[in-house]
Amino acid sequence: MQVTFWGTRGSIPVPGPSTLRYGGNTPCVSVRLASGPLLVLDAGTGIRALGNAPEMSAECSFALLLSHGHWDHIQGFPFFAPGYRDICRIQVFGGPGGTNCLKQLLSDQMEDSYFPVPLEQLQAQVEFDEIYDDWKQIGSARVQAFPLRHTGVGWGFRIEERPESGGGVIVYLTDNELTPGSPDWDFYRDICHGADLLIHDAQYLDHEMPARKGWGHSSGRDATRLALEAGCKRLALFHHDPDRSDDSIDALTADCRAQAILTSSTLEIFAAAEAQSFEISGAIQEPRTTS
Ligand SMILES: [Zn+2]
Ligand SMILES: [Zn+2]
Repeated sequence: MQVTFWGTRGSIPVPGPSTLRYGGNTPCVSVRLASGPLLVLDAGTGIRALGNAPEMSAECSFALLLSHGHWDHIQGFPFFAPGYRDICRIQVFGGPGGTNCLKQLLSDQMEDSYFPVPLEQLQAQVEFDEIYDDWKQIGSARVQAFPLRHTGVGWGFRIEERPESGGGVIVYLTDNELTPGSPDWDFYRDICHGADLLIHDAQYLDHEMPARKGWGHSSGRDATRLALEAGCKRLALFHHDPDRSDDSIDALTADCRAQAILTSSTLEIFAAAEAQSFEISGAIQEPRTTS
């Protein structure tokens, strides 16, 4: 599976000189499977660059897994160029109840008060579906949805590619508030078990958490704790705080790495950076440079 980050920022887009390396666009990640549609995780503003990428002119089939309906995760959808091509098919998936609620969310943000083109006028075939109770087969992968600990309804996704198609496990878990020792800690640890790549919300520093309790986000250290306990191979720190500069993301990442080294773990930790693309078993690129 090839992973590409198109948007890694939480809450609101923050373009500018202090966010050039990790990027200012809100969540969007693509996952290229051995076969089947291109998986797209969330439709934050990063999805615009994905839709405009030269290689997308040959891509017709997309499975868009939406974590929830907060603006930073859906706002790019009306600007996703494949939506305006009649040869394209976009299957939108959420967890239980996702079929109706996601259609409503996307449709509402395209009402004429907010946007000139309504959802039903998109030329692409847009379908809505939900993943519940069990696994859903999408191309060469199977996908499981599970609830987030966030404000409102939302889902994380575990994606497993068939061994004969190259194998690999990715868990996408953003906008999720971890509390070590809480009853749901074990649930999330089990969901993330053995993942090759865990993409987890790491919006805050530990000392920022008390004032933000209940906001539905995690500290980098708690995301690291989870990845360590779950035996993940790699952790992508994700959903960067809009007020966090590139340099302060470097510091947050270094702090998480120091925490992992204390346990003698081989967990590889990096901060997800816009335009970063890699095979889950391959080397991780450094963020783009500003020079
Ligand atoms: Zn968010
Ligand atoms: Zn959210």
